[in-house]
Amino acid sequence: MTVKKMKFKTEVKQILDLMVHSLYSHKEIFLRELISNASDAIDKARFESLTNKDILEGDKEWKIKIIADKEARTLTVSDNGIGMTKDDAVRELGTIAHSGTKEFLAAIQDKKIQENAELIGQFGVGFYSSFMVADKVSVVSRRAGTARDKGVKWESTADGSFTVEDIDKENKGTDIILHLKEDEKDYLKEWEIRSIIKKYSDFIEHPIVMDIEKEEEGRIDKSKKVKFKEEETLNSRKAIWLKDKSDITESEYNEFYKHISHDFSDPVKVIHYKAEGTSEFNSILYIPSIRPVDIYFKEYKIGPTLYVKRVKIMDHCEELLPPYLRFVKGVVDSSDLPLNVSRELLQNNRQIEIIKNSITKKVLDTLSEMKKNEYDKYIKFHKEFGRILKEGIHFDLKRRETIGELLLFPSTKTKKDEHTTLQDYIANIKEGQDSIYYITASSFEEALHSPYLETFKDKGFEVLIMLDDIDDIIMSQFEYKGKKFKSVIKGDIELDKSENKEKKKAGKKYKKLIELIKDYLRDDVKDVRLSGRLKDSVCCLVADEGAMDPQMQKLLESMGQPVNKEKMILELNPSHPIFEVMSSIFEKDKKDKTLKDYSYLLYNQALVLEGSKLKDPTGFTKAVTKLMVDNIQQRA
Ligand code: ADP
Repeated sequence: MTVKKMKFKTEVKQILDLMVHSLYSHKEIFLRELISNASDAIDKARFESLTNKDILEGDKEWKIKIIADKEARTLTVSDNGIGMTKDDAVRELGTIAHSGTKEFLAAIQDKKIQENAELIGQFGVGFYSSFMVADKVSVVSRRAGTARDKGVKWESTADGSFTVEDIDKENKGTDIILHLKEDEKDYLKEWEIRSIIKKYSDFIEHPIVMDIEKEEEGRIDKSKKVKFKEEETLNSRKAIWLKDKSDITESEYNEFYKHISHDFSDPVKVIHYKAEGTSEFNSILYIPSIRPVDIYFKEYKIGPTLYVKRVKIMDHCEELLPPYLRFVKGVVDSSDLPLNVSRELLQNNRQIEIIKNSITKKVLDTLSEMKKNEYDKYIKFHKEFGRILKEGIHFDLKRRETIGELLLFPSTKTKKDEHTTLQDYIANIKEGQDSIYYITASSFEEALHSPYLETFKDKGFEVLIMLDDIDDIIMSQFEYKGKKFKSVIKGDIELDKSENKEKKKAGKKYKKLIELIKDYLRDDVKDVRLSGRLKDSVCCLVADEGAMDPQMQKLLESMGQPVNKEKMILELNPSHPIFEVMSSIFEKDKKDKTLKDYSYLLYNQALVLEGSKLKDPTGFTKAVTKLMVDNIQQRA
């Protein structure tokens, strides 16, 4: 049979180099990764066998076998699961970069990960961890349900290439044979294998077996000990979600989490929930403590693992959770669904809908309790996942108020890194205030120094500070306890009704002057009007009520998307002395050139305040310099 040599894909080669040369701690996780792959392969075969008995090839039981051969210095993890065809092996073990590979290579630059090999599995590069302990790995496999001669042998020494050859294999499934490095012989010791399995893989549902050497008295000569080997199951195999809460330790919950999530930090919360009544299911849901690197990617897989009566149906059942809770990991085991449940069936299934509603509520209730009783923990959660949770305000209209109550915001009345909530905002709202005010900004400091907040601060109105890119889209259409959200940088603002009269009076007084300014700036602004939001600053630019938020504009521009920029409105502060000056010049000579220069200066100042680029920085600097010179000459 011919042996074909092939090159690894570049990313895979890089991963392998790292495995071989850079990662030294927690090497034992390779066994957990291989057992986890074997268990997945059995789940797949079992699921397929529900509709195609040929897959079974007469096998009656599923199992994962560990074989430690001290003479050959090999450790084999063998399963009778779904197996691989030659094409599968080439693709899966060498030529495709699994979804996590690129992120892994980016993240590995991070010290935290370099020092912590446990984080490897998070990136779906589990199989390659074998090369931390082995200098050669052979994979012998045959796809269940195919002919004996359709087996494949894959082999690599992690030197940039691998070989594949056609072989005969009697049994379906996969044997992963690790040729251990000289100084990794310890992984052949029975107690070492036992303890790794106990630690990481105890709850794996399928038996993990090993031939254990035992002794017994000789039958004829009782004084002589006779050695023999007996297969022993090393894991306890209990579906943890079916156990009683009181029988599960924290570390068991955490290990199970790590197994299903490929995250290696402990979760921040465990929700173990049994539902009875209209729908019967058992579930364990976890709220992670660290945001996965790929959570914002389109390829990110949502949803808990779905089991039906203890049989694993699929890894990520996205029908079970809304996308704004996509950080939640876990398992749901239903007693009501049929075993041969298909994707199509899941989409319009009443049982699934009931489970989804019930676990969504459970997760939100848990977060609410955490916020109430474990605030410090909650702040950490919110920092990692608040932005994702917030999407629920847009997508889950039924629960938007509940979700709103889970959000934390800094505000003009908190310090940096402190927060208020919508409940507190409403509790302290001013009499007659009918909007919840917010400002979008890229930092707390930028928001606090914004001219848009001057009157709000002066009159003691609290303004929520929103720092996430999606805030404006989400908040501008939200209403909490009958109060609309209003951006302080958009539309007209009128905080004090009594001042309205003053503003009207000033409006009349400066009407002609404002019209003149508008005429000078007609190419740049949509309108010029007197402002209700300025106290010290002389002017600012504001967008129309329905216009795009500047933070959003910046985000789209940074992604290279064309942004249709609307002209903005220039607002002027009627109580600023500049008005008296301009007004008296205007009275004397409506065509005085200073008025045009000042209009230009005002507009450019507003651009600077808003953080926008000036159209003509040289022209602006020249105009300011001229003003300074004029001023000094007048004094001289
Ligand atoms: P992941 O398991 O996260 O996909 P791995 O690198 O561990 O990443 O495995 C890559 C792929 O190789 C798996 O997705 C699977 O298709 C295949 N594979 C690995 N081990 C086995 C096995 N024991 N049986 C069948 N397929 C396997």
